[in-house]
Amino acid sequence: MKRISFEFFPPKTDQGKEKLLATQQKLLVKNPAFFSCTFGAGGSTRDNTRDTVNKLREQHGDTAPHLSCIGQSREEILELVNGYKEAGVQRIVALRGDLPSGMGYAQSEIKYADELVQLIRQETGDHFTLEVAAYPEMHPQARSFEDDIAHFKRKVDAGANSGLTQYFYNADAYGYYMDALQKIDCDAPVYPGIMPILNVANLLRFSNTCGADVPRWLQSKLNDIKDDDAAVKAFGEEVVTRLCERLLAMGAPGLHFYTMNQAGPNLRILDNLGM
Ligand code: FAD
Repeated sequence: MKRISFEFFPPKTDQGKEKLLATQQKLLVKNPAFFSCTFGAGGSTRDNTRDTVNKLREQHGDTAPHLSCIGQSREEILELVNGYKEAGVQRIVALRGDLPSGMGYAQSEIKYADELVQLIRQETGDHFTLEVAAYPEMHPQARSFEDDIAHFKRKVDAGANSGLTQYFYNADAYGYYMDALQKIDCDAPVYPGIMPILNVANLLRFSNTCGADVPRWLQSKLNDIKDDDAAVKAFGEEVVTRLCERLLAMGAPGLHFYTMNQAGPNLRILDNLGM
């Protein structure tokens, strides 16, 4: 059985929060292993992430907060981690995060995600299942692909259970990544991150900042239809469904959906896959 998970971001308004709970209800039909909720850089959504997770947990007990260490003190991190443990949270997505430009990484006590994983394990033992980020197309700040792979293994060696990838549209990147991990004896499961295609301008802008490659053939086809929302959605759905089919055929243990707080596009892809 392949694992499915859905990622949300914390809504800013009460109306957005109500809508998110309705979205979660719709996604429950796919029997996901867990939901997760992102965390703003430097702790900017600290309270909102925690409150959103608490609400989502009323409908699905395994809802995981993302927690990024950059820009937060050791005490601030431990306060959140211990609070989550007391509240019965079972899973955390442990990340470094990105700081807004101008804030120095050097000021952070816990600088990389492997150190965060180590800290959580030291403090809470085996209480949490820990997910960490993985980058089949290489993290944009990594010195080399080999370095990045070695770094993923450090996170696993520090106690992470599995990886969730940055989204990508080239299935071979995932295949090479998994082969490279195997060669360094890292056999943690890595779940491809799936980004449905909904809006061309947003996709290209966001991909540019997070280092995800939108292949030339895909960009040019999307550019041709970018003003026709229905055509973008239909074509995007077909492309992403095929991508998922290939990933699952290659042995991916499941899929992690960047839902953009919407149910429809993710449900349609899963329906197409017969999942
Ligand atoms: P790390 O694993 O620490 O790696 C960061 C970089 O440092 C890599 O290039 C790595 O190769 C390099 N590195 C690691 N150790 C060393 C070392 N000792 N010396 C030199 N270089 C080193 N961001 C958010 O702000 N909030 C979120 O909720 C969020 N959710 C995400 C969910 C997923 C599934 C993914 C894939 C990403 C998410 N991000 C989120 C983005 C993420 O925070 C950024 O990509 C960030 O730049 C790196 O975080 P990381 O945990 O991968 O960092």
